[in-house]
Amino acid sequence: MEQLAKSRGLRFLTNTNDLDHWGRDWTHYFPVNALGVIFPKTVADVSEILKHCHTHRICVVPSGGRTGLVGGAYATQGELILSLSQMNRILDWDPLGLTVKVEAGVIHETLQDYLRPKGFHWPVDLAAKGSCQIGGNLATNAGGVRVIKYGMTRRWVQSLTVVMANGKILELNGDLEKNNTGPCLRDLVIGSEGTLAVIAEARLKVTHLPRQCLTLFAPVENPAAALTLLQSLRECGAPLLAFEFIDKASLDLVLKHCGDPNPFGEFMSDAVLIDLETTDVSDVYAKTALDPRTILGESHSQVQKFWHYREIITEALDSMGFVYKHDVSLPQREIPRFLKTVDQEFSRRFPGATNFVFGHFGDGNLHLNFGYSAKDPDGRRLAHCEAANDWLFNLVHQYRGAISAEHGIGLLKRAYLRFTKSPEELAILHALKKAMDPHAILNPGKGVV
Ligand SMILES: Cc1cc2nc3c(=O)[nH]c(=O)nc-3n(C[C@H](O)[C@H](O)[C@H](O)COP(=O)(O)OP(=O)(O)OC[C@H]3O[C@@H](n4cnc5c(N)ncnc54)[C@H](O)[C@@H]3O)c2cc1C
Repeated sequence: MEQLAKSRGLRFLTNTNDLDHWGRDWTHYFPVNALGVIFPKTVADVSEILKHCHTHRICVVPSGGRTGLVGGAYATQGELILSLSQMNRILDWDPLGLTVKVEAGVIHETLQDYLRPKGFHWPVDLAAKGSCQIGGNLATNAGGVRVIKYGMTRRWVQSLTVVMANGKILELNGDLEKNNTGPCLRDLVIGSEGTLAVIAEARLKVTHLPRQCLTLFAPVENPAAALTLLQSLRECGAPLLAFEFIDKASLDLVLKHCGDPNPFGEFMSDAVLIDLETTDVSDVYAKTALDPRTILGESHSQVQKFWHYREIITEALDSMGFVYKHDVSLPQREIPRFLKTVDQEFSRRFPGATNFVFGHFGDGNLHLNFGYSAKDPDGRRLAHCEAANDWLFNLVHQYRGAISAEHGIGLLKRAYLRFTKSPEELAILHALKKAMDPHAILNPGKGVV
């Protein structure tokens, strides 16, 4: 590999500290074991590297911004880390087709900064935007805070340039909006977490920035009240851009983390953060049961502050000690009953822990976070939380939910796929993996396949 890197003028790192840095994502649960990190600069570089790995049976972990929350970008079995971070150019802007072509390593926020002055955005929006890469967003089919309006990442992709495990370069879908020539490989690669192909370039669809936006920060009594409010907003035709739930424990945590007073004064409760594409909320106030303590964001800085509370929760949780994260999806009407059932058993199963609940309620996506104020030096808490997965995922299954809503499978959820996918579905996916990566060199042990 060293020779290949040298011959193509590519950076190749093997130093232990570098491997430890590049070999992990935000989960931080696993020890890193990597062969090295290589930084291709072109699609041809990716192709040559994979050809070499295919011939010599070297396993590869495609690596983006490493903000993943399920261990998908971890190297734990002596794999080569293939970092896309030097493939970070914006290649083409098409104002007629409303698309932008990028290399996979473009940082999400860099793309938005490029589009904003033109009046457009790629409408995937997530708190990790400052570090995650477009390739990582595509490989995880990322969700985020605007799914309620725009849907998930897959909807905003026109075409991909991918490199297969054997080094073959495929153009998936060209520059076409419409192409009904059979099943779509592009859509299969999106969300496959680096297990079917490496995404090297993408042409993304963009849309106009919302022309106006008002933000409401509203206390709610409990999750059921949050959903009643959501229903009444939908019934009165409110133009929802985001509807995010933050429970009392999470709100308390972020306020302490930021050193800020409670925006609702003495009253501490669950809350929802709502973005509406409008300049007039009189109808919303008249037709929904908004709490009178609801705050309408009046200045840019106030709105930013409310969103900062929502976006900093993951970081605040990470700094508190040890946290075990879940990202589940449920039919919205089942959320209150599901959470009540979890609550009934939580303190017995997790003495000393708090369940911090927040998430994209507008799409039925909850993040449950089992948090302890002390660290987990010997891995006992991690083992304890993992041992409870069967209990939690059985509940998710009973309520007809999914064990991963938007973060993917990675290393963390692989043992629990049976709770969401049938054996028949898994068998088809395994056959596809065999066809696309016969020696199983791409991200082994991760994802669905
Ligand atoms: C604070 C915070 C907030 C977050 N909020 C959200 C959220 O709201 N919604 C959401 O969906 N996620 C969220 N995430 C999770 C994470 O940011 C997303 O999964 C993101 O899409 C990962 O992008 P990345 O570049 O960091 O990918 P990485 O973590 O580097 O990789 C993720 C997976 O994609 C694969 N991969 C990466 N690049 C490529 C490529 N070019 N080709 C093929 N495979 C590749 C990796 O092998 C790995 O399996 C959040 C994370 C943090 C830390």
